[in-house]
Amino acid sequence: MLNGIAQSVDQQEAKRTWQAVKSAMASAQERLAGTVADNAHWDDAVLQSYGKIDPDWMYDTWGVGSDDINYDTMYLVDANGDVITAFQNGETLDVPADTYFGKALERTLSELPMNGEDFGVLSSLVETPQGLAVMAAAPILATSDDIRIPTPRPNVLIFSKQLTPPLLAKMSEQYIVDALAIVPIRSRAEMASDTALLDHWGNPVALANWQARHPGDLASQTYRFSALATILALIGVMTPLAFSYGRVISRMENNERKARLASRQDALSGLPNRAFLLDELGTRLAQAKPGELALIFIDLDGFKAVNDAYDHETGDKLIRAVAAGLESVASGDGLIARLGGDEFAVLVTGENAVVRSEQIARRILAFVKEPFDIDGRIASIGASIGIAELGSEPLDPSELMRRADIAMYDAKDNGRNRWRRFDATLDLKRIEDLTIANELRAFIARGEFDVAYQPMVDSRDRSIVGVEALARWPKSSPRELPPDRFIPVAEEHGLIDSLSALILGIACRDMVQWHDLKLAVNVSPVQIANPQLVPDITRIAGEAGLPLHRLEVEFTESVLIRNPVRAKQVIRELQGLRVTVALDDFGTGYASVGYLREYGFNKIKLDRSLTHSISTDIAAQQVVQGTILIAKGLSANIIAEGVETEEEAQLMRLSGCNQLQGFYFGRPQAATALGSLLGSDTAEPLRETA
Ligand code: C2E
Ligand code: CA
Ligand code: CA
Repeated sequence: MLNGIAQSVDQQEAKRTWQAVKSAMASAQERLAGTVADNAHWDDAVLQSYGKIDPDWMYDTWGVGSDDINYDTMYLVDANGDVITAFQNGETLDVPADTYFGKALERTLSELPMNGEDFGVLSSLVETPQGLAVMAAAPILATSDDIRIPTPRPNVLIFSKQLTPPLLAKMSEQYIVDALAIVPIRSRAEMASDTALLDHWGNPVALANWQARHPGDLASQTYRFSALATILALIGVMTPLAFSYGRVISRMENNERKARLASRQDALSGLPNRAFLLDELGTRLAQAKPGELALIFIDLDGFKAVNDAYDHETGDKLIRAVAAGLESVASGDGLIARLGGDEFAVLVTGENAVVRSEQIARRILAFVKEPFDIDGRIASIGASIGIAELGSEPLDPSELMRRADIAMYDAKDNGRNRWRRFDATLDLKRIEDLTIANELRAFIARGEFDVAYQPMVDSRDRSIVGVEALARWPKSSPRELPPDRFIPVAEEHGLIDSLSALILGIACRDMVQWHDLKLAVNVSPVQIANPQLVPDITRIAGEAGLPLHRLEVEFTESVLIRNPVRAKQVIRELQGLRVTVALDDFGTGYASVGYLREYGFNKIKLDRSLTHSISTDIAAQQVVQGTILIAKGLSANIIAEGVETEEEAQLMRLSGCNQLQGFYFGRPQAATALGSLLGSDTAEPLRETA
């Protein structure tokens, strides 16, 4: 099993490396294509390349250049492929073009637009007598209207560059591939190899080779450790389990209560159930002194995802494993109960109950954090923990449970995998939340809300390509609330679906006036569970007259963690409708490149923390460049968020972001302000006035 994990991690790494190799090859071709196009689509080139040839001009222009880093071989051929001029490494070359490039020459000439009007460029890997090379070709054409080529079909300029060991070494370094090498294909079997490099026409031309890394060795060490921890925990369970029951039962005075115990036990985990806990709380609260009783509530994070991803049997086993773990970290210290679902509680009594409960909470978090191994399936979960204690005022069981519950939700709201002790401010927040929820309800009923739009620009020419709709607390309200405050309330109080529908409707209607611009909207992880999500989006956009291909939907990775199966389904459905699906806030959480591949996002939004750190932080630069590299291989678009300065804009563009967004290009603003910012509040396409 452990070897299985190591293998699959290694396979992932191998896939990543292969992707990087392909990206390296593609980018070498792209660069050379750019160079040859610059040289071929040029008035002077036309004046010099047709009719009488000036050898000095040829040498000065292209011959000398064949010694530099961009290309080592240059051919100027006519439409039939006959050589007009050729240079290699700064010297005249006397080899026919079809000898040097083989079949690729004819294919290139037949595929390039040869009508004398279209500026085409074609690039490929090619086999040459000297080995594998990158090749790019473009017809020689003028950019000015008044210069025409004198022949019916244009001459063609071809540059090529050998993939020499020093060049491969450089690629290795740049693309983080160890010891990249290229070996010729020797057999039919090798032609079908997974690592065969293909030319422009899909023919295998060579094999890529590299030194494999084995990160799996590292991963299996981690899992080995956790498997050990689970075994130790299980050994620890047997004895304390018997022990704690013994203690509970010994306190019972008659057989009748022993019989009741059976009905107060959770069948799945064998732990006392909620009714049992309530009973015990009643008795002990009456006896305990202030500070000598604390209740811990534990709610598992990510359990539902495991349950959905595998089957219920796996889920059941996970619950049992967690129960066993709780016994091992808390037994002897308290009464452990399962409240139902993925909720557990520990009742701690006696001296220093509060301090001890905090220690237990820490041990529980550490235990739950380690991946669980369920019949060879690895389940990663977490826990949010709330603690409530008996203070100087008397409390009844339900009030104590309510407080533990509120503290637990606060831990969840603040990022999970943490514990929180109840205090009175949490109650205040609770009351405030209720007020906000009521106000939201009223706005939704009236169909009233504000939406701000923030431009997204093309990183090259900085024209506006779309806007992101961001919810704004209505100005008609006497107070101001940021989305970070009211969106979670909407989520918790079951209002997010209707709020999102309202915002989407407003945004779609605002957008229709701006043709061509894309509209990006945020979808909360809670919405993913709503079976009406996709039908609602389709209907609302349809009613507003916004075609779905202009819509972008942004998800954060928490969607994937909470409900991976459903997320995948929703993503596919949306893509089927031509909606762009973007991964928001990339770089802030767990989301790895593996997610990008698995979920097939069309677009990745790099979080603003990455944008801010890129100018100073080498590690951030590597994350950004690595991500862009892989995303390009998956043909996803990349947008940098939170661009606040010219420097950040430049750096993100140079790293390969296609789009940019941030205060530097425009703050989120009302539709009317956005219109006038662009000098247009009419139905003119904004892009043209940008
Ligand atoms: P987000 O989706 O990551 O949105 C980007 C946030 O970054 C926005 O905050 C925006 O105002 C801010 N921002 C944009 N450019 C810059 C910059 O250059 N510098 C800095 N420091 N910040 C920048 P906002 O509007 O406060 O929204 C916060 C979050 O609330 C959003 O993060 C999103 O997660 C959520 N949200 C907003 N509107 C909606 C909505 O309609 N539905 C849902 N589900 N969530 C929403
Ligand atoms: Ca967003
Ligand atoms: Ca974001």
